[in-house]
Amino acid sequence: MPHEILPTPAGDEFAAAFIRSGLPVVQPATARTAGEGPYDCIVFQNGLLIDGTGAPMWGPVTIVVQKGMITSLTKSHHAPPPREGARVIECHGQVLTPGFIDCHAHIGAPFHAANGTMPHADYVYALWLAHGVTTIREAGCFNGLTWTKDQQAAAAAGRIAAPRIHPYAAFPATNDYVNILHTPDAARDWVARARDNGAEGVKFFGAPPHVMQAALAECRRLGLRSCCHHSQLAVGRMNARDTAQWGLTSTEHFYGIPEALLERNTVQDFPVDYNYSDEYRRFSTAGTTFDQAARPGSPKWEAALDAFIAAGHTFVPTFNVYDTNRDLMRMRGADWHAVYTDPNLWRYFQPQRGGHGAYWHRWSTRDEVAWRNAFRDWMTFVNAFKARGGRVCVGSDSGFMFQLYGFGYVRELELLLEAGFTPLETIRAATAQGAELLGIDADVGTLEVGKRGDILVHDHNPMEDFKLLYGTGALRLADHTEDAGFVRGLKLVIKDGIIYDTDALLADIARQVRARRAQA
Ligand SMILES: [Zn+2]
Repeated sequence: MPHEILPTPAGDEFAAAFIRSGLPVVQPATARTAGEGPYDCIVFQNGLLIDGTGAPMWGPVTIVVQKGMITSLTKSHHAPPPREGARVIECHGQVLTPGFIDCHAHIGAPFHAANGTMPHADYVYALWLAHGVTTIREAGCFNGLTWTKDQQAAAAAGRIAAPRIHPYAAFPATNDYVNILHTPDAARDWVARARDNGAEGVKFFGAPPHVMQAALAECRRLGLRSCCHHSQLAVGRMNARDTAQWGLTSTEHFYGIPEALLERNTVQDFPVDYNYSDEYRRFSTAGTTFDQAARPGSPKWEAALDAFIAAGHTFVPTFNVYDTNRDLMRMRGADWHAVYTDPNLWRYFQPQRGGHGAYWHRWSTRDEVAWRNAFRDWMTFVNAFKARGGRVCVGSDSGFMFQLYGFGYVRELELLLEAGFTPLETIRAATAQGAELLGIDADVGTLEVGKRGDILVHDHNPMEDFKLLYGTGALRLADHTEDAGFVRGLKLVIKDGIIYDTDALLADIARQVRARRAQA
């Protein structure tokens, strides 16, 4: 009998391509090695509440969580005594917030395998949990949709210590990676098969316009959501304004925004010897796209904002992953690398020919200045969109360009403040609005009766200083002495009735990193 080659399941094409090129996928988590519980009933007593809706802090409140769901939330002096057998957490002087949602996350990436054995998925999950991330949108499932669905089910059942996972399958119509869909019929058929395989949405990088339009229409018909990294190879035929009007749910990063604002040209005026496959040229030139765009407040700029609002579009900027372009030394020297960055990731981040986002051997002061200027325009746009009522969500895209899981998420909160968001708007973007983007806002995103008890217990109000959320903490002087030290605000992370102590998570991550370095 001839050897039969099984077709790759829809959503597994990128993983299959990585494997074919010798890059294995990440080792999945197989057992829960952290957290206590699940508890049938947890009572959070006397905490101050930031509920995620945009309401200011109030309290003290008492919250009862039964079988993972919030069954009561009242001012503490109205709360009945906790029922017998309940796990009571006294939160006097502490602050309660919803768990955070990372709307642009990758559970590792096979790219990293080029630099040796990758860390286990447990390492990535622990970093997220230690920074309060209880839900992620897997933007592309590069380990495969099948792999990601397995991890999603294990996380939902509490068999592994991981955030809730919402898989978005990568649309295999990219010129530079996998390109197997060439007609509207093929696009519709693939979207339906990806849905059958459990995708909740589709991650696009662009496609021929008629193929993209067919896929987006099919997503909408089947109730799938969508996000797009508008690749420079595709954006000449579809900027973010076009795809928003075709029904795309969210634009990731910034690509496609300045292209929607071009007024002197119809496509970016690239250097004539630009080669997109040269990562240095790709990223240094990307820092100049906003220079060619309409200025803030100009008629073209205002019209674009109006169009995005009218389309009900969402932006997930992932500012943090481009932050390194503004100041390489800052991110390369970040406090956390010494203790928490896995040796494989550290090697991957270093300058190397052929690596994705590893072009630092050519990075210059001029490149950093260009990116600082680009950030000003980009942040002005994102903040203006927010001010008009548009939804902006928090995504980290960590695992590239010196950005580490969890830490990159907190950096994103800092960068939203820099863009002009208030602390409360930033918390809402990280919670309620992330849930709305994923279509799970009936279930998570705010702390209200009937929703899941994804709850963070903070020793300090995170709105005072988002640096308190870093696993390394914020630098402070001790009371009454001249001793400086790092103070961490996030104490406990609760999901599905399981209590994760962030001290224990961070100690375990540090231990894993030490062990991996010893092996290396
Ligand atoms: Zn990404």
